[in-house]
Amino acid sequence: MPAKLIDGKLVSSVLRAAIREEADAFAAKRGRRPGLAVVRVGDDPASVVYVRNKMRACDEVGFTSAVFVLPGDTSEEAVLSRIAGLNADPLYDGLLVQLPLPAHLDERRIISAVADSKDVDAFHRLDAGHLTLDGGNVLPCTPYGIMELLRYYEIPVRGRECVVVGRSLIVGRPMAALLLAADGTVTIAHSRTADLAAVTSRADILVSAVGRAGLITAGMVKPGAAVIDVGMNRDAQGKLCGDVDFAAVSEVAGYITPVPGGVGPMTVTMLMRNTLSAAQAASGQMPD
Ligand code: NAP
Repeated sequence: MPAKLIDGKLVSSVLRAAIREEADAFAAKRGRRPGLAVVRVGDDPASVVYVRNKMRACDEVGFTSAVFVLPGDTSEEAVLSRIAGLNADPLYDGLLVQLPLPAHLDERRIISAVADSKDVDAFHRLDAGHLTLDGGNVLPCTPYGIMELLRYYEIPVRGRECVVVGRSLIVGRPMAALLLAADGTVTIAHSRTADLAAVTSRADILVSAVGRAGLITAGMVKPGAAVIDVGMNRDAQGKLCGDVDFAAVSEVAGYITPVPGGVGPMTVTMLMRNTLSAAQAASGQMPD
């Protein structure tokens, strides 16, 4: 039997409708809407598209939003000063700096200047020592979105073999941390893993976050496994595809995410969820 499709667009729209309702309730009570500010430095074409998608999502869920575009040659001090201003601006509950930044800027220094309470990308939590991810509602968006997909399709994690391929700070490591926090038995594989197929074929839940088309073939997947494809690649025809050989793996897996339409739509949705959580936390700290 072919695998059941995990539909990220569907789950995203369900979650966005719920976020919209909560945002409306927040506005009715607080007299203002949750707000997200995005700082973009320069005109990297992919960043322009990503930021536009984030702004559209803000409109959809009823948030106040604004993009602050700085010229590509802006000095580090000027970027930091803009961040300090937005940190202090009560209109915005969330603040993110779109990456990548121009080469003359110190990405780490700039990201860490964002106030903890407004760090809706959860980049501060990716630092060593925060990787247990316990406590707090704001979680790294892509792995958070994957946990929501598993929850929606009632795919249990507790006690099951989970394999994450890829160990990046943004996806692989926090993914492993969230699966571990949900009581999965977690293995992280990477480019130095000796026998990748032997590791992946143990997985009840297999997450591939590598960025290499065709890496995960049907022979590497346990029958009935849930296969989550984070990869975003272009195939020989220039079409967007993931890391997983979708057609062949669909014949073996129990569940599978498509690319596009799987993990991708969830990432921006969880950014909206994190912004709402930041707004709720900020208003909880203020007297009524
Ligand atoms: P990254 O920083 O380049 O990390 C890739 C990881 O894959 C590294 O840990 C690397 O191992 C590992 N790897 C490389 N070749 C491998 C191989 N042959 N076998 C096993 N592991 C291998 O990438 P990333 O930022 O995590 O992103 C991964 C992919 O997800 C990309 O395609 C990216 O575009 C996509 N992505 C999608 C979303 C979304 O919302 N859909 C969000 C973020 C990223 P080493 O550590 O040993 O080098």
